[in-house]
Amino acid sequence: MDARHIWHPFTQAKGSLDPICIVKAEGNKLYDHAGKTYLDMISSWWVNLHGHAHPKIASAIAEQAQKLEQVIFADFTHPPALELTKKLHAALPRENPRELNRFFFSDNGSTAVESAIKMALHYWRNKDQPQRRKFIALEGAYHGDTVGAMSVGMKSGFFDAYKSLCFDVLTIPFPAIWHGDKTAAEKEKQALSQLKNLLSQHDGEIAGFIFEPMVLGAAGMKMCGGDFIRDCANLARQSKALVIFDEVMTGFGRTGSLFAYEQCKITPDILCLAKGLSGGFLPLAVTVAHEDIYEAFLGDGFGKALAHGHSYTANPMACAAAIASMDLLLDEESAAQREAIKKSHQNFIDAGPYANLEKLRVKGTILAADISGQSVYGGKLSQDLKLFFLNRGLLIRPIGNTLYILPPYCTTEQELKDAYHAIVEAGEIFGDTAISLVA
Ligand SMILES: *Cc1c(COP(=O)(O)O)cnc(C)c1O
Repeated sequence: MDARHIWHPFTQAKGSLDPICIVKAEGNKLYDHAGKTYLDMISSWWVNLHGHAHPKIASAIAEQAQKLEQVIFADFTHPPALELTKKLHAALPRENPRELNRFFFSDNGSTAVESAIKMALHYWRNKDQPQRRKFIALEGAYHGDTVGAMSVGMKSGFFDAYKSLCFDVLTIPFPAIWHGDKTAAEKEKQALSQLKNLLSQHDGEIAGFIFEPMVLGAAGMKMCGGDFIRDCANLARQSKALVIFDEVMTGFGRTGSLFAYEQCKITPDILCLAKGLSGGFLPLAVTVAHEDIYEAFLGDGFGKALAHGHSYTANPMACAAAIASMDLLLDEESAAQREAIKKSHQNFIDAGPYANLEKLRVKGTILAADISGQSVYGGKLSQDLKLFFLNRGLLIRPIGNTLYILPPYCTTEQELKDAYHAIVEAGEIFGDTAISLVA
């Protein structure tokens, strides 16, 4: 049935592995139809936080489904949206008086970014500065698959086929750093000087600067320091561009702090959240803006209003899942789990080096390393590596030649050790052949 009728995401179906049919899950274990288990080391594409089928979240959804499953969100509101907003508002780090205050709901990371882009553009139009319509992005950054999100992520290389649909974006290089990297300061300096040049060349034309703060996820878990993000954001602000942080992947504790921007010590003007927001249970996203951005949209006609919305905006069941997930996230137990994962990752790196594994790096619960040699997304090496891990009961899905772990927070020390062991073995087996395996 699958082979005959289903079209899978981000997949070249010709020659791809047969999809594994997962029938249940618990904690970080996935069970296929034959009873084989897989340890989910990538939180099922970065969405899961506390483990699969978590009973607290599952029952919150079930209860909400019996009370109110969905209602139009224009002209109406509902208790789960209000309670979630209250919890998120309290949890977001702030830098008074410019706190993130207005919550615009949608249903996935791409729409959260799309909303942010439209907000920034329309904000400047409403402020009588329509010439501010360009965006700056980090080279290699990924912001989602809709047309606006593809445009700001064009340099990720995923979207060449759709280039003609997209608008032009200015980019600066991303100064990726790793454990023991001695060139970090120089790379940052160069990127900042390129940013200065861009800002002066396009003075008065920049609507916003969009970042994945500190970790470029889809680019291969490339990492940079918080200070670099803060310096970029400050430069952008000096030339009045809005600062947009896409924390779709980095939010909700992945990088060590609840939100990555806390470590950058700067609050964005617009923040995009999705993926972990519902604990990985239901599609939900929110774009959070400063009050002064919201105020620029107030006016007598519809012309100044944000012309954006989705059918399932602020779905009550998704909000109920998110409330339950926030409660779990803010609990001491979750904080201790995240801290333990971070320590374990750090110990693994400190115990290195490992054969053919380069550029080891950690940010909070995320660990990554590159296998020496070169590969392309979806190439033969990727496929062989995927199979290598699956055969060992591990869901570890390489991005090109980058191996990474981004586990649910319930993952135990022993499970992490099993994953590290497999990664080291993969380096030994595939490392020196990586170049010849490139498809
Ligand atoms: C995954 C991701 C998106 C897109 O989210 P979807 O829910 O897949 O549309 C946007 N930005 C970042 C940083 C992401 O990691």
